[in-house]
Amino acid sequence: MKNLPKSLITSFSRDIGFDKIGFASVEPFVKEKEVFRKWIAEGRHATMKYLERNIDERFDPLLILEGCKTAVVTAINYYNPDNELFRELKTGKISRYAWGKDYHKIIKLKLIQLADKIKELFPESTNLSFVDSGSLPEKLLAQRAGVGWQGKNSLILTREFGSWIFLGVILTTVEFEPDEPHKDLCGDCTKCLDRCPTSAIIKPGLVDASLCISYWTIETKPNVEIPLDIVNNSQSRIYGCDICQEVCPWNRFAKPTKDDGFQVKDNHTELSKEFIENLTNEEFKTIFKDRPVRRIKLKGLKRNVCMIRE
Ligand code: SF4
Ligand code: SF4
Repeated sequence: MKNLPKSLITSFSRDIGFDKIGFASVEPFVKEKEVFRKWIAEGRHATMKYLERNIDERFDPLLILEGCKTAVVTAINYYNPDNELFRELKTGKISRYAWGKDYHKIIKLKLIQLADKIKELFPESTNLSFVDSGSLPEKLLAQRAGVGWQGKNSLILTREFGSWIFLGVILTTVEFEPDEPHKDLCGDCTKCLDRCPTSAIIKPGLVDASLCISYWTIETKPNVEIPLDIVNNSQSRIYGCDICQEVCPWNRFAKPTKDDGFQVKDNHTELSKEFIENLTNEEFKTIFKDRPVRRIKLKGLKRNVCMIRE
């Protein structure tokens, strides 16, 4: 009987489209906080100043929701196979996570449904949901909840879907039996470190943002020039960079997403230089409406054309 609500929540999470779920306790992550502080002190976060704020909260769920007892961690597979047709062309590649619709809204809606279910079972409970909010240690909670493990490329990997997953978290005041934390299954592999073209993975699990193609193509303002070293090693990544995922052996288990929101609706997963240079603002807004690329605006996309290697 003790685990009945947990199994009800698990099966409901599958019904609404989550691929994995796990339950974790919410003690603070003390050691990990110190590693993060050092990373910040060394300036590895580049210009992302917001990461310097609320560090204590970031590693202690109890400072986010007083009285919370459990973190319910969900994962959803967003993988779509490559478009073979486009692979032949000299095009700029868009990160796979951005091929479908913006994941924030899709996952948030599912989390709200899941939180409502918890509330239905436990009317006295308080439940808060988070998607990539930056205020929670989502990856650490995912490993603690047994959803996956944090690989040397810093991402959460799962046996079933590799690293092509989005995480969501609900903090709840309900005390659920925690799941077993996931074992680290990277073993002796160092493929992501060896194959990162800009040597941005400075140690297992730690990325220096100022060397990372994703940072330069997504996080920097369009008027900022991308350093030549990054440009020359970009492998034509114009929005994000999946190289440390593409080389990961666990990603051979990837399978196509079942979620409608993450389906590729057209062939705009890779774009040619000419296509980007001729793109008008109207066209940009139409093509990237509801998609992550809209975040860097047309100006950012045009700046990133320098990454296309011929
Ligand atoms: S995203 Fe690209 S640049 Fe960044 S760590 Fe991974 S392989 Fe390196
Ligand atoms: S490439 Fe190897 S070391 Fe890197 S995350 Fe995958 S399994 Fe781990």
